[in-house]
Amino acid sequence: MQVHRNHIAGDWVDSPDAAANTNPSDTRDVVGRYARASQAQALDAVAAAAAAQPRWAASTPQQRADALDGIGREIADRQEELADLLAREEGKPLAEARAEVLRASHIFRFFAGEAMRLGGELLPSTRAGLTVEITREPVGVVSIITPWNFPIAIPAWKIAPALAFGNAVVFKPAELVPGSAWALAEIISRAGLPAGTFNLVMGRGRELGDALLGHPGVAAVSFTGSEATGRKVAQACIGRPGPMAKFQLEMGGKNPLVVLDDADLDVAVACAINGAFFSTGQRCTASSRLIVTPGIHDRFVAAMLARLQTLVVGDARDPRTTIGPVVDATQLRQDCDYIDIGRSEGARLAFGGEALGQVAGRPGHYLQPALFVDTDNTMRINREEIFGPVAAVIRARDADEALALANDTAFGLSSGVCTTSLKQAAHFKRHLQAGMVMVNAPTAGVDPHAPFGGRKGSSHGPREQGRYAAEFYTTVKTAYVAA
Ligand code: ADP
Repeated sequence: MQVHRNHIAGDWVDSPDAAANTNPSDTRDVVGRYARASQAQALDAVAAAAAAQPRWAASTPQQRADALDGIGREIADRQEELADLLAREEGKPLAEARAEVLRASHIFRFFAGEAMRLGGELLPSTRAGLTVEITREPVGVVSIITPWNFPIAIPAWKIAPALAFGNAVVFKPAELVPGSAWALAEIISRAGLPAGTFNLVMGRGRELGDALLGHPGVAAVSFTGSEATGRKVAQACIGRPGPMAKFQLEMGGKNPLVVLDDADLDVAVACAINGAFFSTGQRCTASSRLIVTPGIHDRFVAAMLARLQTLVVGDARDPRTTIGPVVDATQLRQDCDYIDIGRSEGARLAFGGEALGQVAGRPGHYLQPALFVDTDNTMRINREEIFGPVAAVIRARDADEALALANDTAFGLSSGVCTTSLKQAAHFKRHLQAGMVMVNAPTAGVDPHAPFGGRKGSSHGPREQGRYAAEFYTTVKTAYVAA
């Protein structure tokens, strides 16, 4: 089987090692073989990026916009093929994979426009005869490290702004999903960027981390992944010799969805099912804590159980499937361990939670979505991120306690409330301690042109996406000019 190679300094290069990319919906199916870069190759990629970056920074905004627009158009033109690859390697149902691919296209095209719009500011000085000019310049070489749960959208929302604002990129995708990353890199490799402006290094994070974080040529690191790895990334960016790297971290969540007595039951159930279980619960914005007040609690639980019966667990590429497999055996074990922990903590498993082993004769990492009831917010299942199709209902005394429980967490990415009261909606919108607040909408699912990010243990550094992305991918220069 042909090995998909890394892209370094404008060339496709062989690596000493390669890994098989397997389909979680059918573990007999090998999607492809993908090179694993050596440390030396990661260093080569950083050096190539450092050499290319000044040329890319000197390109006109129109050149950058045209390149990004071309990438975005090709992604959209190949939506079906890329969605099939994404669903096959990650296990997300085709409908969701199609939406993710389109979103990646929209992100590139949004940042094509942003390349043209990067302006500055002119301030009058407090000193006679001076003016103050504020401009934004590229930050330099950016290492981009991404997780497996959005194999094309997360790379897109980091790579597009990095390139739009004149930076060079070394991109290291997650080990489990090199296929979508390679396909994206191949498209970018034909976009007319100077050789070395964009580099792909597939491989193991812990092996390549030193080169991608510790090399003094790397000016900034954008990371999405687990909290534990995020901390290591931060330490490496600060602890390295020479100048520290700027860093941006998107990590976990333990997102609450509050359902108040006056909620529209259908809306609340739709939000909870989507937020907790779609994408197999493998979203940092997933609703894992369903905090419900007494007047609606029993009706909500009954309606959730009825709706759960209708979900179809199966092959991600089967159009009837609504819940695809868990991404791999390790994640499945983690999900099952947490289901055992929940039971041993006294939570009642009201639905699902069984690993299915196979569906329709296909061996895969299938898990029946799990709903716990009678839980409280001190249980480990309500404090630690599970990252699977596992949600827990917590009964709150009233709206005030619901708000306090929602905020009683180490994380703060996304929080939701379902209510028909304008007063309650305004109150929760104001007091939920999260980067994103959803009113009568699922905690997961965000727009490509709006800022994304969280508070507390969920995030560190400037927001991603939308106009706010410029904060991370540029550095501000203040010039004092005497005329
Ligand atoms: P996930 O559970 O989503 O795989 P991780 O935090 O383990 O979360 O991985 C996210 C990304 O970070 C992946 O691309 C992984 O290869 C990378 N990574 C893991 N360890 C390190 C490290 N020590 N330094 C740099 N990147 C790492």
